[in-house]
Amino acid sequence: MSDVSEEKLSFQAEVSRLLDIVANSLYSNKEIFLRELISNASDACDRLRYAALTEPELLGGDADFKIHLASDSKAGTLTVRDNGIGMNRDDLIENLGTIARSGTAAFMSQLENKGDANLIGQFGVGFYAAFMVADQVKVTSRRAGEEQAWNWVSDGKGNFTVAPAAEDEADLARGTRIVMTMKKDAAEFLDTARLRKIVKAYSDHVAIPVILSEGDKEDILNTASAIWLRPKSDITEEQYTEFYRHVAHAFDEPWLHLHFKVEGVIEYSGLLFVPKSKPFDLFHPERRHGVKLYVKRVFITDDCADLVPPYLRFLQGVIDTEDLALNISREMLQNNPVLTKIRRAVTKRVLGELTKKADKAPEEYATFWGDFGPVLKEGLYEDADQRETLIELARFASTEAEGLTSLAEYVARMPEGQSEIFYITGDDAEAVRRSPHLEGFKAKGVEVLLLSDPVDEFWIPAVATYQDKAIKSATRGDLDLSGVAAKDAEPGEETESEPEAPTPGAEALIAFLKLALKDAVKDVRPSARLTDSPVCLIAEEGDMDMNLERLLKQHRQIDMESKRVLEINPKHGLIRGLAERLGGDNPSGGDDNAALEDAAWLLLDQARILQGEAVPDPTAFARRLTAIVQRGFHI
Ligand code: ADP
Ligand code: MG
Repeated sequence: MSDVSEEKLSFQAEVSRLLDIVANSLYSNKEIFLRELISNASDACDRLRYAALTEPELLGGDADFKIHLASDSKAGTLTVRDNGIGMNRDDLIENLGTIARSGTAAFMSQLENKGDANLIGQFGVGFYAAFMVADQVKVTSRRAGEEQAWNWVSDGKGNFTVAPAAEDEADLARGTRIVMTMKKDAAEFLDTARLRKIVKAYSDHVAIPVILSEGDKEDILNTASAIWLRPKSDITEEQYTEFYRHVAHAFDEPWLHLHFKVEGVIEYSGLLFVPKSKPFDLFHPERRHGVKLYVKRVFITDDCADLVPPYLRFLQGVIDTEDLALNISREMLQNNPVLTKIRRAVTKRVLGELTKKADKAPEEYATFWGDFGPVLKEGLYEDADQRETLIELARFASTEAEGLTSLAEYVARMPEGQSEIFYITGDDAEAVRRSPHLEGFKAKGVEVLLLSDPVDEFWIPAVATYQDKAIKSATRGDLDLSGVAAKDAEPGEETESEPEAPTPGAEALIAFLKLALKDAVKDVRPSARLTDSPVCLIAEEGDMDMNLERLLKQHRQIDMESKRVLEINPKHGLIRGLAERLGGDNPSGGDDNAALEDAAWLLLDQARILQGEAVPDPTAFARRLTAIVQRGFHI
């Protein structure tokens, strides 16, 4: 009796949680379960075909791969069967009881929030979609080349059983049979007309025939050809979209597709897609591109890091080459010169296509950039070869542009006398737009790029200049805009028409502030940046940018604090007043000095707050503020 060795096992906690979500949500696209099961069956056939390249005996003489569907409305069951690689006991427990990928927690909350069933396949947990439509799932599988077949059975409620399959159930020569006892409200999927439609819509181009058995009749439901090898003129938009949805496990439309065949030193063809919407895991550390590698139409791997650079990891699709050996090993795929050439050429092709879009459809392109720009920017420091192309593709928010601007447009707008490209970084573009550091730029009409992606801190040092103009932080180093014509100045008008009257006592105030703040600041200087605010903090030219330091601290990469330069605005009423007070008579003697010192610290804290930083000593801050207010009201 096979029952003797039946084992009852629990799903990994994450799987149970996933199954709960899957079973209890009202998904509108339940039919995707079939797409996911057919995709698994087709993967299993691909994997056996690949394994058989080195171990042909695994095929047992049967290289005719097929996926069978059968529905039994009396029994209320739907069966999906393949003659792919199959699973043994350990495979079943590992593959259908756990989720291997990390980052599962993040994925789950996405799923709970959005209730979006489409994410299931994207995350690589498509098998569990069967529980959207089935009360019970029974998997019988025999791994190619092994004697024993195994049953895996579950109702999706916390547990599953695994047992050797009885003789009469071991009718599979190899591969996997999945029998789903359908839920009452999923009976529609027993209807063969419905099944035909679903396969046509979601799995038409799966390269293995999907066969529907109805009585003695067998019908192939799909086209079952490698779409990327067919001439473009034969393929409709719908077919492209359907193939995209299959490879990406997605539901949206592709924004762009590139279909190409290259015959030269290296021969390859490809069909690549840029999605219309952003995948949820674009910035997950384990996120990889979705481009599968085929060699001479045989699937090799969907995990070839060298095929596409990481900054194009939003791509989905297939690349198929004639120039690799079919039995190429994983090790040989690393640093493989053929792959390197293909990657370079494909990268160029994709960037070329994006450049065309940017020219022809700037608004669509801006939307694309909004989703994928932060990823493409990684290429600016990772891929020196493509830097020039990538910098032209980059778009930025700015103080002057409506919508996004390119650097070329920025340079074209630069007023006479401006020789550098300015930027400011922060958490979000709208918050940095209000930064006091920009006051002087606004007054002069000098445009500043508003950068708010963490990656901005990294590509700028790598790129450094554009059209020979330095790309310079608005919050770092000395600022000299004196050569730039004032905003409304007539052409030719003297730029420094009204030289500033020096603020009396400013120098003494600066000396006083330096003394009072001692080690808390690196220096105190008059500012050319400020017009409305009394103070701001800046980083010294060679020092780390303040936003970068904040990011690194957040990620606990550093715990030190660089000293900053406090800039004061000599034209501001408060600064003028303090300077006068310092130089003038001292009616209340020592008392006034203490108040001035409090004011010095409050100025520094105010600058920190404007910077979005925490005040390091809130108690002292509160005490000083109280003292000053009390003095102000004479209380
Ligand atoms: P994914 O396909 O993204 O890996 P799934 O949840 O769809 O995630 O499947 C989990 C795993 O179960 C697969 O990776 C595969 O190892 C195994 N599996 C599922 N269906 C089959 C099948 N029909 N034949 C062989 N293995 C399968
Ligand atoms: Mg799958």
